[in-house]
Amino acid sequence: MIIALFILFALVLGFLFYASYSIGAGIYIKAFCRMQTDERVVALTFDDGPDPVQTPKVLDVLKEHHVRATFFCIGSKVKGNEAIIQRMVAEGHTLGNHSYAHTWRFPLYSTQRMTADLEQCRRELEEASGQKVVWFRPPFGVTNPTIARVVKRLGYKTMGWNIRTLDTQQPSHEKIISHIHKRLRPGSIILLHDRMPGSEVLLGRILEELKKRKFNVQNDFVISTL
Ligand SMILES: [Zn+2]
Repeated sequence: MIIALFILFALVLGFLFYASYSIGAGIYIKAFCRMQTDERVVALTFDDGPDPVQTPKVLDVLKEHHVRATFFCIGSKVKGNEAIIQRMVAEGHTLGNHSYAHTWRFPLYSTQRMTADLEQCRRELEEASGQKVVWFRPPFGVTNPTIARVVKRLGYKTMGWNIRTLDTQQPSHEKIISHIHKRLRPGSIILLHDRMPGSEVLLGRILEELKKRKFNVQNDFVISTL
């Protein structure tokens, strides 16, 4: 009996962990994790900027390749980097809310505190860009019932991904490319971080690989739902 209860407890815990950490599973929030298409297109998304050193380099590479992306920015990083935010918008990229503080405590916040955090991020981004922000990506991709409630109340659309490059763990670029290679499907949404050193070099490699496999990068589905 005790063993059966223990197994049940472990299963429930396991499910809750899976539900919180698997944005693609859509347990709490129905997030866009892939575009519904058979065409050879992918979307690029960058989290955790703006970074005063790396983000302009990433923007240079995107510009060189005539590619548009979505940047999920951290609200507390906007002050002092307004020119980068303005450049993103001027060059046709989309801005998304990635929370103000981006702390591991975010999923544990009360409804009120979480609302205040997301609204503060939205204010920073909208004041700097003059554009409305409707996309949200939860910090660390973690979701739970509080996040689901707040996001719904504030009217955000949530974007996940179906290819996590694990670029923050800094594996070799070859490893990341082969990881993408294995998971690439029409409509894939690729998660990258513009704050990482060398992110512009990695981006160049990814764009080359996509070209080789005849995949185009597009941001239209993000814009069309604005
Ligand atoms: Zn993040």
